[in-house]
Amino acid sequence: MDFRLSEDLLAMKETVREFVANEVEPHAMDIEREDRVPEDILDRSRRLGLFGLSIPEAYGGMGLDMVGKAAIFEELGKTINGYTTILGAHNGIGSVGIVAFGNEDQRRRYLPKMATGEWIGAFALTEPQAGSNAANLQTTAVRKGDRYILNGQKIYCTNAPIARVFTVMAVTDPAKGA
Ligand SMILES: Cc1cc2nc3c(=O)[nH]c(=O)nc-3n(C[C@H](O)[C@H](O)[C@H](O)COP(=O)(O)OP(=O)(O)OC[C@H]3O[C@@H](n4cnc5c(N)ncnc54)[C@H](O)[C@@H]3O)c2cc1C
Repeated sequence: MDFRLSEDLLAMKETVREFVANEVEPHAMDIEREDRVPEDILDRSRRLGLFGLSIPEAYGGMGLDMVGKAAIFEELGKTINGYTTILGAHNGIGSVGIVAFGNEDQRRRYLPKMATGEWIGAFALTEPQAGSNAANLQTTAVRKGDRYILNGQKIYCTNAPIARVFTVMAVTDPAKGA
């Protein structure tokens, strides 16, 4: 693995460092107190491309590899977790499932708007009785025509109040537990 950062990535890292220090960190205590990130900070994050880190360039993102994302998150991690986690969940579990396993129709439908941050992503695995033991999922997905009907209960879903796209873990064949 090549750990060297390109000139472009170093420049982006510096931009993010300044943004975090000058525009996010001064609001950290307000974010903590009010339990929400001001829309102008999210908008500025969108304009910096911070919602498209994992999404391939073909779908409007930056398509960074693990080293690139780690370099950017080194800077994002210097401020309050309530802000950083929005981007962490979106760029991680909230979008990489569609990048890696989505079909072309799903990628075209979701990724461009996720890359701009217009649509924020979330990932719903955990249930009251299924945390570490994810094999105990009770949520079901039953096919009806060209759709799946979901039934179940999810907890601890980061970004749930602000997300538009949810990757939901569910059992399609309860008899097999799969
Ligand atoms: C900040 C935050 C964000 C999160 N975001 C998401 C999200 O976006 N989407 C989502 O689906 N979930 C999310 N989660 C949930 C997280 O994935 C679960 O909390 C985690 O899987 C643990 O499940 P649990 O809380 O039910 O704890 P449990 O599974 O009940 O575990 C409790 C304790 O028992 C230990 N333990 C469990 N099983 C064993 C074992 N077999 N042997 C030894 N020790 C064991 C664990 O290590 C832990 O210390 C989030 C959690 C946090 C804290």
